[in-house]
Amino acid sequence: MTSAEELEILPLPWPAPGADLRLARRPHRHRCVNCPSHYLCAGPDETGECVPLCGPCLWVELGSQLKMYQSMANEIDRRRRKIEEQIGSAECRRAQMLRRNLLRDSSVVAGFGRVVLKREESGSKASD
Ligand SMILES: [Zn+2]
Ligand SMILES: [Zn+2]
Repeated sequence: MTSAEELEILPLPWPAPGADLRLARRPHRHRCVNCPSHYLCAGPDETGECVPLCGPCLWVELGSQLKMYQSMANEIDRRRRKIEEQIGSAECRRAQMLRRNLLRDSSVVAGFGRVVLKREESGSKASD
């Protein structure tokens, strides 16, 4: 048990800009910014910096983020329902089908907006 406690406590944010990554990733601990615990750090994450929170504090933080995203998702869902109420679900399904077909036919991966609309225009003209 003492081995983890013997690891050095590095200052946050870690690593400093331009620091040697191999050195920055060596086993270490940080002092949580939210509580007095000195937690074992897993090293810099995909952002390139260490998470400045211990496990329990991170868990709480992620929970509140989850709540935020859930309320955002609920809001989006609410807007969609409202639109669906206004124009009818058949119209929505039709648009969804159209978009699926366009995506399947299109080799453009990010095929939303102008590109797709242009393709749809020329496509419908050709079929007339
Ligand atoms: Zn903490
Ligand atoms: Zn760290």
